[in-house]
Amino acid sequence: MSVQDQLHRYLFENAAVRGELVNVSNTWHETVKNHDYPAPVQTLLGEMLVATSLLTATLKFDGEITVQLQGDGPLSLAVINGNNNQELRGVARFKGEIPDDSTLKSMVGNGYLVITISPEKGERYQGVVGLEGETLAECLEDYFMRSEQLPTRLFIRTNEKGAAGILLQVMPAQETNKDDFDHLAALTETIKTEELIDLPANDVLWRLYHQEEATVYEPQPVVYKCTCSRERCGDVLKTLPQEEVDEIIEEDGKIDMHCDYCGSHYIFDAVDIAAIRTNTVENSDRLH
Ligand SMILES: [Zn+2]
Repeated sequence: MSVQDQLHRYLFENAAVRGELVNVSNTWHETVKNHDYPAPVQTLLGEMLVATSLLTATLKFDGEITVQLQGDGPLSLAVINGNNNQELRGVARFKGEIPDDSTLKSMVGNGYLVITISPEKGERYQGVVGLEGETLAECLEDYFMRSEQLPTRLFIRTNEKGAAGILLQVMPAQETNKDDFDHLAALTETIKTEELIDLPANDVLWRLYHQEEATVYEPQPVVYKCTCSRERCGDVLKTLPQEEVDEIIEEDGKIDMHCDYCGSHYIFDAVDIAAIRTNTVENSDRLH
């Protein structure tokens, strides 16, 4: 796992089809390592990291994407955040037993896939699709057809070592021959899980497409990064009723804010709380 996670973009100019290939193995490891997730939840988070990376790479602007699964099953929530810098993080909440042979449906139950796109400038967009497909990839293909009318194929693979995936998509506003797209999808389908996860990206691309004319662009690093901070926790504390905060401080001497995503703790004592209330939280930052 020493190789840096990367995203490669490529283009079949003659067919007006674009592709993305990503490996998120290290990011996946970082996302699940401080949590006690059952195996199928770990796998699903790996798939969601792949999907979120591929989706963020389709954005033409700076911003964030959140891919979220929610339902009435034992896995009540699974969420991945990603942005245009390919910084990803994620978390899942579950209760009860999740057996090893669980499927997407048996984990999520009656549920939805919610995709929220938040550009840095401009309006937030939210798309919701029911879990009609058997797999996350099928649900996302469905999402692209409904939200953007763009034929899209996702190939998401995980094993005990890592997680990787490929997206193929018809170029918006261009004439794409359906046979060309199906041909490229059929080629892509032939990749074996261990090849996709273990081989360098250029080897995978050569194996799949050496008879096609593809332009491959400079890769972009993919990293695990949690966006939590002491300052953000302070902002949350400010929104809580003062009496409630004071009560905890009186009883425990401190407030321990815990990040669900990365497991970081942010401790606030009476002095910190007073500072937050007078908006001097930045100065107290260095003391911890
Ligand atoms: Zn965090």
